[in-house]
Amino acid sequence: MRFDIVTIFPDLFAGIFEHGIVRRAQAAGLVTVAVYDLRGFTHDKHRTVDDRPFGGGEGMVLKPEPLAEALNALGIASKKERTTASKATAYPSGPPALPGVAQDDGSSGATTRVVLLSAQGRTFTQAMARELAALDRIVLLCGRYEGVDERINQLYCDMELSIGDYVLSGGELAAAVVADAVMRLVPGVLGNEASGEFESFGAADAEIATDEPGVPRSQHGAGGLLDYPHYTRPAEFAGLRVPDALLNGDHRQIRRWRREQQLRKTLANRPDLLEHAELNAEDRRLLEEIRRG
Ligand code: SAM
Repeated sequence: MRFDIVTIFPDLFAGIFEHGIVRRAQAAGLVTVAVYDLRGFTHDKHRTVDDRPFGGGEGMVLKPEPLAEALNALGIASKKERTTASKATAYPSGPPALPGVAQDDGSSGATTRVVLLSAQGRTFTQAMARELAALDRIVLLCGRYEGVDERINQLYCDMELSIGDYVLSGGELAAAVVADAVMRLVPGVLGNEASGEFESFGAADAEIATDEPGVPRSQHGAGGLLDYPHYTRPAEFAGLRVPDALLNGDHRQIRRWRREQQLRKTLANRPDLLEHAELNAEDRRLLEEIRRG
């Protein structure tokens, strides 16, 4: 899977994708990340990327021309051209100008999404990360100042994503968050294919086909709940002992304890998640017990 990031501050990404799982995923050829300097798509002496807003008001707005040029150089046609070209084989915007970049005018069958990072976007979730991880390519546009000229959104963007209800000074951190969350779910990136299902916001038991015969599974699929607490050695630290349930190797007991903790944590920290969580009869009973104290 390929990630193309367009920004006026490419240096902000130095190091972000060079550690841990994400670095290994690139080394294994499972994902590619490329960062482009928006100023490289300007033509004036000052490499101008912004201008004053129509209608007045504070701040500046990222101009549409450099962004459109960057997208065309990345082989991204406008949404309208993509729709038309999916029925033909022509290159409506001309072939990509950047080496190593595939044309995406909709005719190749490759799945690409152009994402605008924006505080006005839909809130990015783990469920979205799972969907995006099935694509061939994501192009992430990072806004700055008051944001991006809306016509870029209208013409090119498939979705506007926000990483939360707060305002960042630029889309770079948001792009890094989205790329990281999606990348680790690309098939093959996590060592164990199922580990993405057993963590916070993961899939429900019924959606996970990883039970090995004869090996009792000691976790539930998160089913939209938060994860349970984790412990490692030593068994006692600063006077606090690891819960007994985790120490005796009884997988049934471990599983039950973990599920109860998931329910407790979710109830305490994110009760809103319980509305859509996949709960079975035992979960509901446990939840009732926890609520009663
Ligand atoms: N005027 C905009 C508003 O009130 O919605 C805020 C612009 S913000 C200062 C500059 C850029 O940061 C945005 O264009 C966007 O790319 C990025 N940004 C800010 N908050 C974000 C969020 N919660 N999620 C994703 N991107 C965000």
